[in-house]
Amino acid sequence: MKDERSQAEGVDLDLLVIVIDTKVGFSSRGVEDTFPFYRCLDSIEALANSHLAMSSNNIVCILGCHSTGNRFLYPSEDGIDYAKDIKQTDGRFETFSAINLSLKTEFLKLMNTDKGSSGDDRNVLDFPIAGTLTRALCYINRIAKSKKAVEKLKSRILVITNGGESAAQYMTFMNVFFTCQKNSVLLDACVIGEDSNLLQQGCDITGGIYIKIPQPSGLLEYLLWLFLPSIEERKNLNLPPPSKIDYRAACFCHRQLVEVGYVCSVCLSIFCRTSPVCVTCYSIFKGATMQQPKSKKKRALPPGLIR
Ligand SMILES: [Zn+2]
Ligand SMILES: [Zn+2]
Repeated sequence: MKDERSQAEGVDLDLLVIVIDTKVGFSSRGVEDTFPFYRCLDSIEALANSHLAMSSNNIVCILGCHSTGNRFLYPSEDGIDYAKDIKQTDGRFETFSAINLSLKTEFLKLMNTDKGSSGDDRNVLDFPIAGTLTRALCYINRIAKSKKAVEKLKSRILVITNGGESAAQYMTFMNVFFTCQKNSVLLDACVIGEDSNLLQQGCDITGGIYIKIPQPSGLLEYLLWLFLPSIEERKNLNLPPPSKIDYRAACFCHRQLVEVGYVCSVCLSIFCRTSPVCVTCYSIFKGATMQQPKSKKKRALPPGLIR
């Protein structure tokens, strides 16, 4: 991948990683039908270009998240240098044209990954956004490892998604949030459609901005006003007040959000109901072994649950 870092010394590098959820392209969950996905991509491209135009020390990376997986949209994960074949004709900065070409080409590659599946059994509501965030963290770590000693890296991740509950990915999300916090990576979220309580928690933990935009057609304005300014510049802005954060945790047995639950005293796993044995660390709880459940209803563990 192309390394766009400035060769200047003693400078702050501002790395912006944009994670775009292709679920935004599905006109569900209250998203306006008049907001096609290409307009979302155009807005992201404008944000990426503006970020690069702000300073020659700025770096941008765009990741796409689809139901079948995720992919680097810019820079290319296949190592293709899109700027190489671009000839300047209209006075446009070559990198901007390269981002445009890379976004289009790599996005088509990402969408073609689910051509092999039947399509009907594809769960479009459960996109692996937490996994994409882990890749974003890996990229940030790589840039941090390769920077010069005099350079200071400031990184942030911006997630653009349709939102909705993603309690099934609760553990991965929490691991991502605390890794971001430990590495001083800011997590921002721009949600179109339903609120995402896990992303709300992540933005609060890392000190980022969470916003659910009321008008998807105004996405570009929100992106440029809220997410273009650097972390330092944000302190001088009159940002929208933080929304009420839903701090419910997901139980480890059914991956459902619970307000009141039981916590294993050994491994701190959360359960929505009492059980004689912890399914995470297999600790046997004293006193609980003699209890018989009063209700005959038994919830089966979801398929594929490991532990
Ligand atoms: Zn449960
Ligand atoms: Zn336990």
